[in-house]
Amino acid sequence: MSDAKFDFDLIVIGAGYGGFDAAKHAAEHGLNVAIIESRDMGGTCVNRGCVPSKALLAASGKVRELADAQHLKKFGIHSTPVRFERKKIAEHANSLVATIRTNLTKTLERSGVTILKGLGRLEGAQKVGIRDKNGVDRVLTSKDVIIATGSDPFVPPGIATDGRTVFTSDEAINLEWLPRWIAIIGSGYIGLEFADIYTALGCEVTMIEALDRVMPTFDPDITKLAYRNLIDGRDIDAKAGVLAKKVVPGCPVKIELADVESRDTVDELEVDAVLVATGRAPTSKNLNLESMGIETVRGFISVDDSMRVLKGGQPVPNLWAVGDITGKLMLAHTAAAQGTVAVDNILGDLRKIDYRSIPAATFTHPEISSVGLSESEAKDLASKENFELGSVRSYFKANSKALAELESDGLMKLLFRKDSGEVLGAHIYGLHAADLIQEVANAIARRQCVTQLANEVHTHPTLCEVIEVAYKQASQQVKKSIGKG
Ligand SMILES: Cc1cc2nc3c(=O)[nH]c(=O)nc-3n(C[C@H](O)[C@H](O)[C@H](O)COP(=O)(O)OP(=O)(O)OC[C@H]3O[C@@H](n4cnc5c(N)ncnc54)[C@H](O)[C@@H]3O)c2cc1C
Repeated sequence: MSDAKFDFDLIVIGAGYGGFDAAKHAAEHGLNVAIIESRDMGGTCVNRGCVPSKALLAASGKVRELADAQHLKKFGIHSTPVRFERKKIAEHANSLVATIRTNLTKTLERSGVTILKGLGRLEGAQKVGIRDKNGVDRVLTSKDVIIATGSDPFVPPGIATDGRTVFTSDEAINLEWLPRWIAIIGSGYIGLEFADIYTALGCEVTMIEALDRVMPTFDPDITKLAYRNLIDGRDIDAKAGVLAKKVVPGCPVKIELADVESRDTVDELEVDAVLVATGRAPTSKNLNLESMGIETVRGFISVDDSMRVLKGGQPVPNLWAVGDITGKLMLAHTAAAQGTVAVDNILGDLRKIDYRSIPAATFTHPEISSVGLSESEAKDLASKENFELGSVRSYFKANSKALAELESDGLMKLLFRKDSGEVLGAHIYGLHAADLIQEVANAIARRQCVTQLANEVHTHPTLCEVIEVAYKQASQQVKKSIGKG
């Protein structure tokens, strides 16, 4: 039931994936909702992130496959040299973005959400200011407010961008040209996905990573195998432990590389282009958080697991934040899940988010995915809670479907408690790893045990049997450990 004291029951600031899901869910449950967006409906994911990057990966992945004469020959297939049109590939991504943005906007309109275009900000408790592009400013009242303003590319000091020769993923997704030689700064999932796209389309890549190993955020065993295929097996020169201290746009782009410790220059490169993929910074500057005395942590808004904004560790009444702005597992499906949790709590259906069961994927060819704890986190938990950590590996080379596809380079690592069998985490590299991880994510969400899961029948022949094998091996270890094996 709407409260007539307020203009709206809920105002959401930011129409990215987090804001979209929150607004839609709230309107479908009878709330009078407005959503404020200063740029494009759909936010990063739809316009500058997941959607266009996956469209580019789909097209470039097909080029890679058709150009791999050695691989095709093993099937008895002889292909002619592959030709592609960069412009058409870029158009495929752009038209997909436009379609999804339109669909998403229509969905909100159909749900009865009021869409307001402009820059939103807080104006004290239960008040939101909005300034439209003509400078018209007004203040609206709302019973609850959700901040979902997301993030923007982070560009480290010393790196100058011009959007043409030195750019971030915001520009790279337009695929305006194909540099002969491109340096990618950062080897997280965005850097890896673009390295996959560029190398498939014939570009030479130099990957620059400041931390002491390339792919520092991935499981070390998974990285070993993935590195062999995704980096060593391609036209990529990877440099770890070096800092891109200075980057000057132009033709050529000049890069000064420095030793991470001493900051002394160790090398200089001249390349055609640079993609800066060094992480994302929260979009919290224009929110006037001071009007409510809210302090951020490096720009991120602190929240509890119900998505309430915290001030001095205590929840602020009627104020919520979801998505990248919270700095937790910065992914589109996290933002959406947080948005739904916030609204359920507003509706009185008290609920907390379960970060452990949220999967993550890198859509390289082949893919990398993970869910739950990393091995080092699991070890820490094991010593804290005094249990023995179990770990098994299941290989794609023993899987009939992977062998039939001639794609048998792959590994799954499963982490579990040896005392109870509870699944703690999984890390996969191999064909369709992004789809495979969901099965383990569901098991973690239900806190299921490998002894139970090992009895579940998997379709033959499918890649899912890689997981079945892991569950069966793990179950044996658990049974042995508790003396039933
Ligand atoms: C290249 C790339 C590839 C990615 N691939 C994937 C992937 O495959 N899978 C995945 O899960 N995630 C992926 N991500 C991450 C994903 O895009 C983000 O996690 C997700 O978009 C976060 O959603 P959000 O709603 O928190 O914020 P955003 O999507 O950033 O949306 C925030 C919105 O708020 C608006 N806004 C900001 N300030 C204001 C204001 N003051 N007033 C009004 N509006 C405002 C912004 O304009 C924006 O539209 C990718 C990201 C990038 C960059």
